[in-house]
Amino acid sequence: MFNSLDLLSSQKPKTVTGEAERVKCLIIGSGPAGYTAAIYAARANLNPVMFEGLQPGGQLTTTTEVENFPGYPNGITGPELMEDLKKQAARFGTDIRWGIATATDLSSRPFKITIDSAKLIEAEVLIIATGATAQYLGLSDEQKYAGGGVSACATCDGFFYRKKDVAVVGGGDTAAEEAIYLAGLCNKVYMIVRRDELRASKVMQDRVINTPNIEVLWKHQTKGIFGEGVVEGAELYKNKGEANEEIVKIKIDGFFLAIGHKPNSEIFSHYLELDEVGYIKTIPGTSKTNVPGVFACGDVQDPHYRQAITAAGSGCMAAIDAERFISEHI
Ligand code: FAD
Ligand code: NAP
Repeated sequence: MFNSLDLLSSQKPKTVTGEAERVKCLIIGSGPAGYTAAIYAARANLNPVMFEGLQPGGQLTTTTEVENFPGYPNGITGPELMEDLKKQAARFGTDIRWGIATATDLSSRPFKITIDSAKLIEAEVLIIATGATAQYLGLSDEQKYAGGGVSACATCDGFFYRKKDVAVVGGGDTAAEEAIYLAGLCNKVYMIVRRDELRASKVMQDRVINTPNIEVLWKHQTKGIFGEGVVEGAELYKNKGEANEEIVKIKIDGFFLAIGHKPNSEIFSHYLELDEVGYIKTIPGTSKTNVPGVFACGDVQDPHYRQAITAAGSGCMAAIDAERFISEHI
């Protein structure tokens, strides 16, 4: 008989069948969370196998200077930091492999994970460290000026715009938070808001309105970014699609996107509890998901902080939780 569960299961990406490779501890993702989990898991003799995914080294490989990761008084580039973490994980025996997890079956242990739609891995414990991806508007200029004034992380890059003028796109809590943070560093912050109201909570709205160097540009949308090699300004639609539509220009040095993040959690969504955005829910103060033996760390379970150091810290928690699970259950 047909029921809605059949429909759900028919939509799941299928795990492949056939001979499986059995591993004790599988880590999916090679950002700061995955590598830190790997360092701890390897040192605890969990013989971790890691699949790096499409972006070996994770989000930090797309940035230049990282100035807020403790231990580097002069800063370090994102790619160098990730290379160091990789070497440290490899030094203790992590088996680091190229490959993308394309499907999972977490209904029972060992968990079944399909890699590249072809290879089946069976894992006693699973550590998910697949990160989250910032949403962009989809303008070609965002790519053109990546690393030259376009950023999706004010906490990471705001420091480079001290005493300068910047814009934040979005009207949610993240945009409000980023605008307020930037207002403490920058000369002026424009908030580019597509409607005539903010989505942000009342308390954040009040803070935005009461911050003198934030100017909210209501009913504005970005048309493009301009500048010689780096961002020098943006062209905006005002009242787009209405009789009084016009195009305005603002002079800015930094263009910050704050229109949401998408956690990379789809392939786990049939088994794990997610919040309304798609972040994996963990038991507060732990990396434990609703499935015993499956642990989540880093940005994929973190709607709030999304920093390399918090990702690394939660990776450590995941490996310790995994080690304790194995010693108690296996
Ligand atoms: P990520 O770094 O996102 O890594 C996710 C990993 O999962 C990747 O290796 C990816 O290939 C892998 N993956 C995803 N799906 C799959 C799959 N299906 N199968 C296998 N692998 C998969 N933070 C700071 O603290 N300081 C900074 O200065 C800073 N600068 C930043 C600059 C930029 C441009 C960006 C985008 C972010 C910046 N951040 C910074 C934020 C920081 O990069 C993230 O908080 C951090 O990288 C999150 O780590 P993570 O390990 O959770 O995930
Ligand atoms: P969000 O609440 O989804 O807000 C996204 C914002 O971006 C909205 O204002 C939206 O406009 C705008 N936007 C989306 N696509 C756009 C586009 N293509 N062009 C222009 N604008 C666009 O996302 P978020 O702010 O990242 O927050 C996510 C969740 O985390 C929320 O539940 C939020 O409350 C929570 N959060 C809480 C805090 C806190 O409590 N301090 C801090 C950060 C985040 P519209 O409003 O017109 O749709």
